[in-house]
Amino acid sequence: MLLPLFTEYEKEHPTDRQPLPDRYLGLSDEEMDRRIATAKASLGPRLVILGHHYQRDEVIKFADHTGDSFKLARQIGAHPEAEFIVFCGVHFMAESADVLSAPHQQVILPDLAAGCSMADMADLEQLETCWQLLIASGCDPARIIPVTYINSAAAIKAFCGEHGGVVCTSSNAAAVLKWAWARGDRILFLPDQHLGRNTARKSGVPLEEMMVWDPNEPYEALDSAVVNRVRIILWKGHCSVHTRFTVQQIANVRSQHPTVRVIVHPEVPLEVVQAADDSGSTEYIIKTITDSPLGSVWAVGTEIHLVNRLARRFRPDRTVLSLDAFGCLCSTMYRVSPNHLLWILESLVDGVVHNRITVPDDRKYWTKVALDRMLSIS
Ligand code: SF4
Repeated sequence: MLLPLFTEYEKEHPTDRQPLPDRYLGLSDEEMDRRIATAKASLGPRLVILGHHYQRDEVIKFADHTGDSFKLARQIGAHPEAEFIVFCGVHFMAESADVLSAPHQQVILPDLAAGCSMADMADLEQLETCWQLLIASGCDPARIIPVTYINSAAAIKAFCGEHGGVVCTSSNAAAVLKWAWARGDRILFLPDQHLGRNTARKSGVPLEEMMVWDPNEPYEALDSAVVNRVRIILWKGHCSVHTRFTVQQIANVRSQHPTVRVIVHPEVPLEVVQAADDSGSTEYIIKTITDSPLGSVWAVGTEIHLVNRLARRFRPDRTVLSLDAFGCLCSTMYRVSPNHLLWILESLVDGVVHNRITVPDDRKYWTKVALDRMLSIS
């Protein structure tokens, strides 16, 4: 079968991806698979390919390791022999990989347009403004612990590292909050308000002890009475994919499948977590379904590629459905196409490195401090 210009989705979004040389367009699936496999084999141990769970099937099948951000970050140090780490994921993941990699390693993102809208919701200038407002409201900066979700730019992670803070993932967010509260009075959590709220709530913090700070409305002074009362300040950011899940969808799936159990990712809003039966990171979701009794029916609230993969893997022993009947696609993860992967790998075979991701040296130290703290907490 010929792919004249990628898929139907990609035809409708031609400016969403990094342009490729013409010779990488119009390839059949078979030719693409064969050439990717050949290039990969020829690079041998010089190459390791990491694939996030939200990647499309045509790409993730070539990954040496699959996982969520936490699991993949742990793989970086496990392959000192690899000169090239090709990260099939989004930009902030490749940045973290660069920071965690050794000096002789190069980290490559197959499509430079693969970003993350949530990570883009926090920049350093906004964070510095927020920090100054907190200090002006009477907070002792040594007693505020900044915690950033791994879905953030390296500059944000470096700020957290330098100010006694840490990076978290959805896998270890609860442990990280505990770590941070042991070191300060309150946490500044960014950029995902939902992960922060859901995790704090699960940790026993009432909503009255949380406040939201909106980076797009930074002009007003903070009410010091409120700031001094709260244990966590939530940055007003969100994931455009996971905030599509609703309580109504849960009601719908329960009415259609009376025995269904609903499991959602903690980037969904609090009311959706509360209406679901369970919540957790993608690794937690996979493990929970794997360990469930034969015949179980699951409705899953996370990105559609993982849900579809689970549905195929567990059929016919268990039923796995998407909570969103129309699917829930992360369009930036989707930008990493097999065509881009092929271009990257064949170029490496020819001695040419495209799309290397590097974090500037002056940011690397504190970013690594924050990431190393993350890796030490589970
Ligand atoms: S699913 Fe959401 S948080 Fe994850 S990469 Fe896509 S936009 Fe970013």
